This record gives sequence, structure tokens and C-alpha cells, in this order.
Amino acid sequence: MVNPLTPEVLADPVALTRALVDIESVSLDEKEIADRVEEVLRSLPHLTTHRHGNTLMARTDLGRAQRVVLAGHLDTVPLNDNFPSTAEGDRIYGCGTSDMKSGVAFALNLAVTLPEPRYDVTYFFYEAEEIESRYNGLNLVAQAYPHWLEADFAVLLEPTYGVVEAGCQGTMRATVRTRGRRAHSARSWKGVNAIHAAGAVLDRLAAYEARTVEIDGCTYREGLNAVRIHGGVAGNVVPDLCEVEVNYRFAPDRTPDEAHAHVQEVFDGFEVTLTDSAAGALPGLTAAPAVEFLAAVGAAPVGKLGWTDVARFAALGIPALNFGPGDPNVAHAPDEHVEIGLIREGAATLRRWLA
Ligand SMILES: [Zn+2]
Repeated sequence: MVNPLTPEVLADPVALTRALVDIESVSLDEKEIADRVEEVLRSLPHLTTHRHGNTLMARTDLGRAQRVVLAGHLDTVPLNDNFPSTAEGDRIYGCGTSDMKSGVAFALNLAVTLPEPRYDVTYFFYEAEEIESRYNGLNLVAQAYPHWLEADFAVLLEPTYGVVEAGCQGTMRATVRTRGRRAHSARSWKGVNAIHAAGAVLDRLAAYEARTVEIDGCTYREGLNAVRIHGGVAGNVVPDLCEVEVNYRFAPDRTPDEAHAHVQEVFDGFEVTLTDSAAGALPGLTAAPAVEFLAAVGAAPVGKLGWTDVARFAALGIPALNFGPGDPNVAHAPDEHVEIGLIREGAATLRRWLA
């Protein structure tokens, strides 16, 4: 089969975005796109390329004092009547245009056209970011070949609409339980209603004042929310148990342990069980390559509110940020699109930084 990633396509980040979008690659079905990208990378004498599953790592080894990572995931969420791509005015529509084949196009375009970057560069094109983390290509590489990830700074090309989103917030879920005593609802005074008792849990949530935290000039706005509630036995039984699942999104100045302690404190007097948690990432914008990257972008960074793979790099002590042309508000939506102007602008920014 002829590789649609021809030299002319690879030289133009806009054409490359479309070509990548037009290779279907829903999570766990990335073999074809990984094969096509691998073929390109292996043809480049200035890169050393390795593959693990459907994840590709390609790196320069120019002996530069510092190394940076450019990383993008190859997979998309399931198609939603939005494949292949279409173009309309200044926009390209289609599954993965924003999240994040336009970002992948940045990295692949640079990998091909910039044989002697100012820093050594490690490129990652990885599988399965959109599904559970046990499939995540970066996670698998971190377990199998942790040295592949070694770097001084990392840029994840996730959709940020052309601004720098630094660090990321942590997330934890916990279950808050209230207990009562079952009784026939015709004689409800014999029992204690656990669902009524949960009213006090909801009151605390409604009265909760979330923190806004500023770190390195980035603002992180926290949130503590009930995301699910479960209780009730039958239509004629006073319930003896109610469970409120809460999700706490916390600024990266708190560790998961501190976040857990905070949630315990908010629900003091109730039974609180931690379900899961993931640490956030400090913005870490003081490393030299990060400072120079921000200068190339020329606009102030903002705090990343969702959890992203930057936290994987942060856990290894590598400062990381998100920068991509896609609009995060349309990621995963049927009308997902990316603006051609932002692709051109962002690609020029990265080139200014690395050339
Ligand atoms: Zn993404």
C-alpha cells in the first residue's frame, strides 16, 4: 500500500493533519497509522527509531546539553459520523482533528524537516491515550523502557487552542456513606432514613468554597462535586444506606494524600472511603527550555484544569506542558474541528523555538 504520508504532505502541517485524520485510528486500532508513521521515521537518517506495540519513539542524538520531548497520541475516540475529514473555510472537520492529530502533525513535520534542532529531541507517537491507562502507550513505555522518557522538558501537543496550558490538576474520587436502619415505610418511625441523612452531605457540598490557587502565574480553580448518588432498597422500605460519590479536582500544590485529608476534613463525622486518585503536575516553567518555549509563544501560560499525560512526566521529575492548535471544547464532539490558521501559527512557534 502506498503511504499517504508523502514528502509533500509531511512538509506541510495542514496537509499532514488531514492525511493523519484520514487514517482511521480509534483506540486499540492504531496499527495502520503506527506502521505509516514508522515507515517515515525509519527513512530519516538523523533519527533513531524504536517501536513498542503501536508506540513509536524517535530521537536525535546530537550531543546537545538538553533534551526535550514532543509527544502526541495517535488514537482517537470512536468515529461519530465525522470520518474522513472535510474542509470548510478556515477549518478542517473530522474525528481527531483537534484531539490531537493536528498536534501530532506538528511533531511529525518537525521530525522530518528539522534534522539539527537546538536541543536534542525525543518524539513520541503513542497509542491508546483515550482509554484506560493500562493501555496507554506512554504508560507502557514508562514501565518497559523508562530511559526512553529521559528529558529536561516535555511538550504534549494536546488541544489548547494555541495557548500554553501548564501543569495539570489532580483528581480523586471518594465515597461518602450515610447509614440508617431499615423499616417498613408504613411504620417509618421504627427506622432511620439514610437518604435523608445524606442531605447533610449535600449541604456541605453546596456550601463548599473551592480554592483558586496561583502557581508560577498559572491559575488553578478547584472543584468538589457530587458526581453520583446511590441509595434505596424498595418502594416500601426505609433505606439503611446512601452513598454519595464525590470528585475532587485539586490544584497541583496538593499531593493526593493531602487532597484525601482535605476531603476527610470536609466530610468530618461521615464515613469517607477513597476510590481512586491521580496526582496533578506543577507547572515547572523555570527550566531553561521551558522559559525559551514561553518566549517563543509570547503569551502568558494558563493552568491546565483537566488531567493529562503531563502528569506522567512530572512524576519522573520532568517539567511538562500542553500546547496544541485544537480547541479542547470540540474534542470528542461530532463537529470536532481545527482552525488552519492556528495550525500554521503553532507550527511556526515550535520551529522558532527549536530551529
Ligand atoms: Zn488527546
